[in-house]
Amino acid sequence: MKKFTSFLSIILSIFLFTPHISDIALAQNNKPMLTIIIDDFGGFDQSGVDTMLSVDAPLTCAVMPNLENSLANSKAIEESGKEVILHMPMQAHVHLPESWYGPTYICSGDSKEIVFQKITSALESVPNAKGFNIHIGSGVCQNPTTMGYVYDFAINNNLPFVDSRTHINTIAQTVASQKNVIYLGRDEFLEPSGNKSYESVKHHIMVGANIAKERGHAIIIGHVGAHGGENTAKAIASSIEEIKSMGIEIVPLSKLYENLNSTFVNTENE
Ligand SMILES: [Zn+2]
Repeated sequence: MKKFTSFLSIILSIFLFTPHISDIALAQNNKPMLTIIIDDFGGFDQSGVDTMLSVDAPLTCAVMPNLENSLANSKAIEESGKEVILHMPMQAHVHLPESWYGPTYICSGDSKEIVFQKITSALESVPNAKGFNIHIGSGVCQNPTTMGYVYDFAINNNLPFVDSRTHINTIAQTVASQKNVIYLGRDEFLEPSGNKSYESVKHHIMVGANIAKERGHAIIIGHVGAHGGENTAKAIASSIEEIKSMGIEIVPLSKLYENLNSTFVNTENE
C-alpha cells in the first residue's frame, strides 16, 4: 500500500505539480520571463556571431566544445555581458557524419562515468558555462538511461540543463520528474525546417514571447552559423523593444533556473 501511495504521489506530482511551477514563477518575478538561447557558437562558421554579440539584451549563448573557436567565442560572449552555456553534442537517432558532432559527444549507451567524463572535458573548453543544452541529440533524448546520467551530472554540479527537444519523442521531461529536478524544455525554434528568413525568424520569436506571456516563462532557441546567422541576429535585435513592451523580461538561463528552482518543492522529501 505504501509503495502504491508513493507511486501515486509521483504520478500526481508529474501531472499536477508541473503546470503550477510557471504560475508561481510568474507571481514571484511579477513579469513573464523569456530566455533566448543562441546555439552553435564555437564552430568554424562564424556567421552572425558579431551581430549577435552586439544585441542589447541578456542572451544566453551556447558554445560547442573542443572546436577551433570554443575558447575565443566563450571569452567574447562573457565580455559582451551575455551568458555562456555549453552546447553539448549528443548522438542522433540516425547516422550522421562525425564532423556534425565535433570531437566530444555523448552516445546512447555510454556509461555514467563516460557521460560525466565527456561533459567535464567539454566544459574545460567552454569556461564559465552556467548550464548546458543539446546539440543534435535526437537519439540520446529518447534514451532514459543516458538522459538519466545527463541529469545526474546537472544535479551534481547544480547546472541548469535544457532539453532542446530535437525529437518529438524526447523522454527528458519524464526523467526530470523521476530525478525530482525542474524540467527546462525548448518551446520554440527560431529557424524550424531550415527557414532562416528574417520574417520567419521574427514570427517565431513572437510565438515564443506569447508563450512566455501566457505561461509565465518560455525558452526559444536560434542559431549562429549555417543554421541561422545574420538574419536571426537582426530579427532578435529588432524584436527586443517589442518583447519589452509586452511586459516580458528577457532573462539568461541561470536566472530563469534560479526563479523556477526557488519555488520547486522536492516531492521526494515530502
Ligand atoms: Zn546545435
